[in-house]
Amino acid sequence: MNQKTPQNDDTDAFTHELIEGLFSPFGQKTPEIPKPSETLSSEINALFNAAEKTELTTPIIDFFVRLKTIHEDLNIAPDVFGISKDALLSLAMKHQHIDEHGVTVGGRVNRALAIVEQANERIVDYLNRKTLEAPSGIELWDTIRENARRIRSVLDISGEAWNSYSGQLQHCIDSVEKLSKIIDLPVHIIEEVGRVTQNYRMRMTPYYASLIQPGRTNDPILLQSVPTGEMVDNIGIEIPPVAADHSPARLIDQFYPRVLTIKATNMCAMYCTHCLRIAHIGKKDRIYSDNAYEEALNYIRQNTRIRDVLITGGDAFVLPNEKIKKILKALDDIDHVTMKRIGTRIPVTTPWRIDTELLEILEESNDKKPVRVVTQINTAQEITPISQNAFKRISKSVSAVLNQAVLLKGINDTTIKMWKLCETIQENYVRPYYIFNCSYRNPQFAHFRVPVEKGRDIVESMYGNISGDAIPRYIATAGGKIPLHRSNVVRHEGADVILKKPWSHEEVKYPDAAPDAYANPNFSFAKK
Ligand SMILES: *Cc1c(COP(=O)(O)O)cnc(C)c1O
Ligand code: SF4
Repeated sequence: MNQKTPQNDDTDAFTHELIEGLFSPFGQKTPEIPKPSETLSSEINALFNAAEKTELTTPIIDFFVRLKTIHEDLNIAPDVFGISKDALLSLAMKHQHIDEHGVTVGGRVNRALAIVEQANERIVDYLNRKTLEAPSGIELWDTIRENARRIRSVLDISGEAWNSYSGQLQHCIDSVEKLSKIIDLPVHIIEEVGRVTQNYRMRMTPYYASLIQPGRTNDPILLQSVPTGEMVDNIGIEIPPVAADHSPARLIDQFYPRVLTIKATNMCAMYCTHCLRIAHIGKKDRIYSDNAYEEALNYIRQNTRIRDVLITGGDAFVLPNEKIKKILKALDDIDHVTMKRIGTRIPVTTPWRIDTELLEILEESNDKKPVRVVTQINTAQEITPISQNAFKRISKSVSAVLNQAVLLKGINDTTIKMWKLCETIQENYVRPYYIFNCSYRNPQFAHFRVPVEKGRDIVESMYGNISGDAIPRYIATAGGKIPLHRSNVVRHEGADVILKKPWSHEEVKYPDAAPDAYANPNFSFAKK
């Protein structure tokens, strides 16, 4: 055999493979040619006529796809319906001429469609489970509104207070008594929270509390905001806070030559049970003196290498507008500072804080040098129509809104939860930036830690399955941020690099740039 199909046409190998395939016996040979039913014959005839008449590609593809399934399922070749190879070939040529990119029938039917089908299989489970396992606050909105009504009436919060930043802070849930009024928790849990809050502050806004789904013991919002017994019981060896060995000047933390943070406040609208800065957040709110900010800014002024300044806390948006304006103005006045970042969780904990005045301040500074807002959202449940609106408005005033999530046991440590988080925030004007492996540095929340490898599985599972634009980098903080991604460069084989597709683990050969050609300075316009 091995004879070549005559090349009197200019279609490709994929199409020859498809057409030859349709005429060869499929699977086990049946002794006699099965007879198609009347209905099948007339169906094929109709599809054939439609393909002959059409000026579109779809009827031609539909026809070939149907022939292929009939061949695979019933072992019936096209000639049984009176359709010749030549007829198929001329239909294939027609398709190729219609298609703008000259895509052939064989390429589309035998390759592209099969590849898409294979890809679809990878996300079936996610699509089936994402709403149930990782509902967004938008999907839960009816329940959240019902919760809000209940909380408002129990705590006697007026509509005006609820819909304002000051009202939300004023009615903060910061005691076991208040907590037990708004959530129906079993007595032993209430006692436990009482024990822990003797050592750790609890504070969440009534809005954030309304995101908690009643009747779920390990609700991800509850776990992030209500301290549990482990925080006290886990206390082992005291590890000094990051600032102890990374603060070259007042309010400043610095790991890197050109980027540093100003911890501009120790206050937050809520206290997270996994807070990396737990030592700094401390036990009571402090107002920093003007001297403190001035000394921090002076450090930046004197160190001309610094180009990127992160204003964090605590939560930077807890600061009054004038203070934020003043700091941004001071940074804009420093020539060597070229961009500013602001760290805040307020858009998901107390979205009403994002007022017009603040947006104008951000926009004004962003016009001078880019401002980026860096937030922390750990579950899709934190995105509601209210926070969505806050992000929409912020994103119009700054150059980017980025998210740093913390990988937390029971909160977001599954593929489905993390994909859902990344997709949901991406749809809501926020770009996934980092996923942190929860630090070893604070024994208080050792119970939330997730093994490094588990996080790598989760992040790697995103490649090829969700938009590249929604895939964050996976980081461990250990005296600076260290990337934890697995390498997909498997090995070198001569002039090739063997790469691994993260989504299928299939190895592909990737010819590398030739080293001698790369070393040759005699190229392009310099070429003699
Ligand atoms: C996180 C952090 C930065 C910023 O790191 P990027 O990788 O640039 O986002 C800078 N300084 C300190 C002290 C930090 O904690
Ligand atoms: S908002 Fe940030 S700084 Fe404040 S408690 Fe939460 S994690 Fe810590």
